[in-house]
Amino acid sequence: MYELIILGGGPAGSAAAVYSARKQLKTAIITSEFGGQSIVSELIYNWIGTPEISGANLSANLKKHVEYYKGPFLDIIEGEKIISITKNNNVFIIKSESGKEYNSKTVLIATGSSRRKLEAINADKYEHKGITYCASCDGPLFGGADVLVIGGGNAAFESSAQLLAYCKSVTLIHRSDKFRADEITVNKLLENPKFKTITNAEILRVDGEQFVNSLTYKDKNTEEEHTLNSNGIFIEIGQIPNTSFVKDILKLDENNKIIVDPMTQASTTEGIWSAGDCTNGHYHQNNIAVGDAVKAIEDIYIWIQRNK
Ligand SMILES: Cc1cc2nc3c(=O)[nH]c(=O)nc-3n(C[C@H](O)[C@H](O)[C@H](O)COP(=O)(O)OP(=O)(O)OC[C@H]3O[C@@H](n4cnc5c(N)ncnc54)[C@H](O)[C@@H]3O)c2cc1C
Repeated sequence: MYELIILGGGPAGSAAAVYSARKQLKTAIITSEFGGQSIVSELIYNWIGTPEISGANLSANLKKHVEYYKGPFLDIIEGEKIISITKNNNVFIIKSESGKEYNSKTVLIATGSSRRKLEAINADKYEHKGITYCASCDGPLFGGADVLVIGGGNAAFESSAQLLAYCKSVTLIHRSDKFRADEITVNKLLENPKFKTITNAEILRVDGEQFVNSLTYKDKNTEEEHTLNSNGIFIEIGQIPNTSFVKDILKLDENNKIIVDPMTQASTTEGIWSAGDCTNGHYHQNNIAVGDAVKAIEDIYIWIQRNK
């Protein structure tokens, strides 16, 4: 029986494991794999304290830091996908896809999220070759370029606003004629002469050579096909939180994100906390995931002392 089980080995889960082991809580960290979403990034420029680091090295460092604390207070269980959490007599029972069961007094869910992918011909082929899912990470690489943003919600407009700071032009392409983003945000951007929108567009394909260089869409009103030239295509069509396995034990919001108290990271179920991209917290970044997880561990530690 553990005092705490941490699910996920991204920035949030890794930070939690380090803090928990240092507080000498009997802890296990269980994860499909270490590293988190930015493992695929060529270079990360905003990991505080390190001006430049590859996603692969950041992930390796997170794992190394967790392994440093492996011992009497920390078990590391890698390669396990968790499929359910239930509760029996104040003990959480965590089941994995391989059929194993783990018991704990408390749980921290840090299973992050996956980006909703663009479904168009060649979209997977050019991922990280001009097609990107993170404007704040990759935007500065496209200084002076004409870029495209796909989406119609706040994330698409906020990414466009960031890109307008250094790109020559930003064209936002949306599948319907109504934007989901706040009107005030939309109107502010529409005032910018470098920004334009294309609505009622169905993205058909992207093309290129080594890197992407064009996107073809169909105008749903006229059925005509149009091709736009661009080397930078930013996809902001939503995120899918990795939370399906907890939907019966705690409350999720309308986007399937775990509802947490931002003061403590506590979920709606006593004994379960959550941190990072799987929560309904605003803004998702490596540094935020780490900070959320540390906050959660401080609260979990107090809860465990009170409930001994
Ligand atoms: C391409 C890309 C580039 C990015 N670049 C930057 C950047 O430059 N700077 C920045 O600050 N942010 C960046 N981000 C955002 C950043 O990566 C996320 O905010 C951060 O990874 C969130 O951390 P997390 O620990 O909450 O979740 P994640 O990183 O998503 O980690 C979740 C972990 O949980 C594990 N897991 C998931 N489901 C299960 C399960 N059922 N059972 C067991 N384990 C499970 C996964 O294997 C993974 O280890 C980028 C994101 C992307 C997609």
